Amino acid sequence: MNSLRDWLRPLLPTRQPGRDTRSKTAPRVSQETAPTTGVAFELTRKPIKRIYLRLKAPDGKITVSAPHSVSLNHIDNLLHERQDWIRQQQTRIRQTTASTSTEPLGHGAPIQCLGQHLALHITAGARSNRAEPDAGILRLHRREANPTPAQIKLGLNQHLREILQQTLDERMPHWARHIGVDPSFIGIKRMKTRWGSCNVRDRRIWLNLELARMPVECIDLVLVHELVHLHERRHNARFYAFMDHYLPDWRKWQAELQRYGMAGL
Ligand SMILES: [Zn+2]
Repeated sequence: MNSLRDWLRPLLPTRQPGRDTRSKTAPRVSQETAPTTGVAFELTRKPIKRIYLRLKAPDGKITVSAPHSVSLNHIDNLLHERQDWIRQQQTRIRQTTASTSTEPLGHGAPIQCLGQHLALHITAGARSNRAEPDAGILRLHRREANPTPAQIKLGLNQHLREILQQTLDERMPHWARHIGVDPSFIGIKRMKTRWGSCNVRDRRIWLNLELARMPVECIDLVLVHELVHLHERRHNARFYAFMDHYLPDWRKWQAELQRYGMAGL
């Protein structure tokens, strides 16, 4: 547990007399999804007076400890209010973890593409630089006789960019038409803290290259999220009503993105 900062706030009494006769002393742990924001978190109920928020290394998983009497909606509101702080802390945890990890990206390394788990196979001294998925394997051909980790990473990122671009070409026209918006630009780039971003005034959308690793449903979620911003700039009730309308199971895919370790949209 990487306890970064306790999050303290006096609580409003929400418990009704006579309700909930379960033990008030034994901690109860459950995996929850916040009803409005779709934020996934681990909830521990115990006999305490305040809510505590912590983020766990290495993936920045959100854990909440709360009194038995606090409603899920109350926690949901707090997670919503603190979303910028959560994002900052998650970025910090992952940067710390990444800088201490020396895992080489070499032959046999596990790679995730569009939600599928593949093993990386490297062919050195190939006639051209290219990548091809092949039954559980991603074959990466490099022209170098002895490709460096940086060259392997470059080849992999080129492949990820291609498959994400192809997915966008297939899905974007459908979603833009369905949602009734007309973005002026959609680009792919590497982002440290966000899956996507939308400049509402210029109608420009950027998507994170890392999305190429995720299932298509997660890519749909980010596309719909950013396109809905062209109707509603803020993450308010109107925004979430649009999300519920266009993508009723968006919370499930948002939780999936969070498990991968990035929250920002
Ligand atoms: Zn957003």
